[in-house]
Amino acid sequence: MHLRKRILITGGAGFLGSHLCMRLVGEGHDVICADNFFTGTKDNIIALLDEPHFELMRHDVTFPLYVEVDEIYNLACPASPIHYQHDPVQTTKTSVHGAINMLGLAKRTGAKIFQASTSEVYGDPQVHPQVEGYWGHVNPIGERSCYDEGKRCAETLFFDYHRQHALQIKVARIFNTYGPNMHPNDGRVVSNFIMQALQGHPITLFGDGSQTRSFCYVDDLINGFTALMETGDDVTGPINLGNPNEFTIRELAEKVIELTNSKSELVSAPLPSDDPLQRQPNIEQAKSRLGWEPVIQLEEGLRKTIQYFESLL
Ligand code: NAD
Ligand code: UDP
Repeated sequence: MHLRKRILITGGAGFLGSHLCMRLVGEGHDVICADNFFTGTKDNIIALLDEPHFELMRHDVTFPLYVEVDEIYNLACPASPIHYQHDPVQTTKTSVHGAINMLGLAKRTGAKIFQASTSEVYGDPQVHPQVEGYWGHVNPIGERSCYDEGKRCAETLFFDYHRQHALQIKVARIFNTYGPNMHPNDGRVVSNFIMQALQGHPITLFGDGSQTRSFCYVDDLINGFTALMETGDDVTGPINLGNPNEFTIRELAEKVIELTNSKSELVSAPLPSDDPLQRQPNIEQAKSRLGWEPVIQLEEGLRKTIQYFESLL
């Protein structure tokens, strides 16, 4: 028999959260989406607003929340550098106070709790590809620190609640993910390049474009989220979720130009401070413990994402 679970998704109106809401409502669960709409929008979840098993709450996770749920996915936090640097103090509060509030909720209700952590906990990594045992190379006082250190502190809180209060925690370290419902102006590289290419604007290559990232399509990532949530008590993470296929940012720009048939030219712009030189997940743990690996490769994922941005224009 199918068990209908009551599931809270914080940051549910954002890019990843909206896909997770769709997935879990589609599977027949009761979903509460809590979001302060800082970077998320109702448009991302508009298809769910008339759904009786979906509930939207305007709520800021830096304040306590009292609901009765079986599972919590804690995704609330701006993810793109221009958004998380807009109000860095609020970014740290969202990660740290948000984690404390959601962990408190999990403690009271006995809910399992998932944390959307990030590859940024590895900083500008000196171990490549990044394995979960690597402690990272993070600047504590730079412009990215509000995000990186906020997420690191949230991980600390998750593991302390696990050890101290026996909470069932699931910590995922998410690597760069892209797809429909990304904010067109949020400054992340995939959305920037596609929007620039579609509009015939110059493609802004930060630095010389030799820095690398590994891009995961959103549908693959959401499969990883639910697979991790379904694991038994022995799996806490942290566990890397991402696509290990690594590309330089220049290669990405060239691919986007090719797939959009764009006449846009590459222009170089200054490299932001503390921009990691390379990033690639080692996903052996996800493969062995979750039976998960991405199946959608860059070209197919980019085509779907390009279609989405075309529909916005
Ligand atoms: P996003 O900015 O689209 O979504 C974040 C959501 O959180 C938005 O809806 C926003 O309004 C909401 N939010 C922000 N602060 C809040 C607060 N104080 N209270 C309530 N809601 C708040 O970003 P995303 O890409 O969907 O990222 C979701 C999560 O995954 C984030 O925690 C992010 O750090 C993490 N993550 C994402 C990626 C990626 O590549 N997309 C990579 C690593 C980690
Ligand atoms: N980037 C770029 N042009 C842009 C936006 C980003 O060259 O218009 C680069 C950025 O410097 C970084 C990479 O693309 O090296 C990924 O940037 P993003 O902000 O998407 O994510 P993150 O740096 O957090 O991985």
